[in-house]
Amino acid sequence: MSDPDDREGRSGSRATARPLPPWVGVATRLVHGGRRPDLNAGAIVYPIYQSSTFHYPAEHSEAGERTYFYTRLGNPTADGPAEVLRELEGGEAARLFASGMGAVTATVLSLARPGDEVVALTDLYGGTTDLLLDLRTRYGLAVRELTDAAARDPESAVTRSTRLILLESPTNPCLRVHDIARWAAAADRVGAVLAVDGTFASPINQHPLALGADLVIHSATKYLGGHSDVVAGAVVGAARLVERIDARRAYGATVDPFAAFLLHRSLKTLALRVARQNETARLLADSLGGHPAVARVHYPGRASPAEEEIAARQMRGRGGMLSLTLRGGAAAAERFLGALELVQVASSLGSVESLASVPARTSHRHLSPDELAARGIDPGLVRLSIGIEEPDDLRRDITHALDRCGTGAPPPL
Ligand SMILES: *Cc1c(COP(=O)(O)O)cnc(C)c1O
Repeated sequence: MSDPDDREGRSGSRATARPLPPWVGVATRLVHGGRRPDLNAGAIVYPIYQSSTFHYPAEHSEAGERTYFYTRLGNPTADGPAEVLRELEGGEAARLFASGMGAVTATVLSLARPGDEVVALTDLYGGTTDLLLDLRTRYGLAVRELTDAAARDPESAVTRSTRLILLESPTNPCLRVHDIARWAAAADRVGAVLAVDGTFASPINQHPLALGADLVIHSATKYLGGHSDVVAGAVVGAARLVERIDARRAYGATVDPFAAFLLHRSLKTLALRVARQNETARLLADSLGGHPAVARVHYPGRASPAEEEIAARQMRGRGGMLSLTLRGGAAAAERFLGALELVQVASSLGSVESLASVPARTSHRHLSPDELAARGIDPGLVRLSIGIEEPDDLRRDITHALDRCGTGAPPPL
């Protein structure tokens, strides 16, 4: 595929750039990855092929000869960023989608049939849980949800009838850490596919495929896009599986060429952005726990010594997410959001600007109080996605908002 001599590029064929030298590191690969010659003008930034269809030369009567035919089936603008992600995750193949949910839906529909058992964490991303429950009701998928405690014992959680396992680590919003390598071994023993949604960690901090997972899924809307201006998704992993996840053809969740272009642009700075987000989030996790308004800091590895051990083993940085349980409950959370001057109140995460949200009122609002409690989601839990602002500015803004939110009574356990 990366034939350095294929620089002429037949009309509509895949022209690739000279491969990068093998000695370059991650940040360099991100800047130069997926580059390819622009045969028309020699542009350094690859152009956007905002075209739904591609010229079909009369002499090439066979569609099979052509690389690009119709954008739902493939577009040159999407190939660069897909290649960067493939390399970054160390997979055999990568495919982009219209959204993270497009990637999740295509994965589940392509790999599980009615009657197949799908094992999933209870605290997966809300959209993923909704999809699985819907497929259980209307499609006969045998979905088995695992509480956090049950998910600590993958060997017992996985059975001979398990086809697909969906895992997230760290989880949303309590940032619990699951042992991906241990899950991969359990999946292997029964021949199940382990798909890890790696959105929260980003591929800078965690490589699920290297830990034995078969697939890694990303909402590229978050860290990969990183500027709150792209909606996209990705699946990377074993070629035999990625090829089966054929949503571009059958399910139609195709990434838009402009979104793919923005994603490629964003990936160039991913290492820089995530390094800064890792550093600032750690600084805040270390300092905010001492504030009288804060009952508990949720941060990867903090829940227990066992999780610290897993996080230290499977993550390079701990990511840019942290959550705070406020002593004053829902009212304090509301006052906290209202007092923020810099951090913006919005769901989503992974962007250059810091965002705050209250999961009990946003992503998890459909859950009953009992279900929220079972997931450790207190009404006074605020989730912070740390951006790339000056760390001191963020500390000042968040501390000031905590000063204003009151300590109230400790939340009920
Ligand atoms: C946002 C998110 C998704 C869904 O991605 P979209 O791009 O919004 O469709 C899936 N998984 C996780 C962990 C997410 O945070």
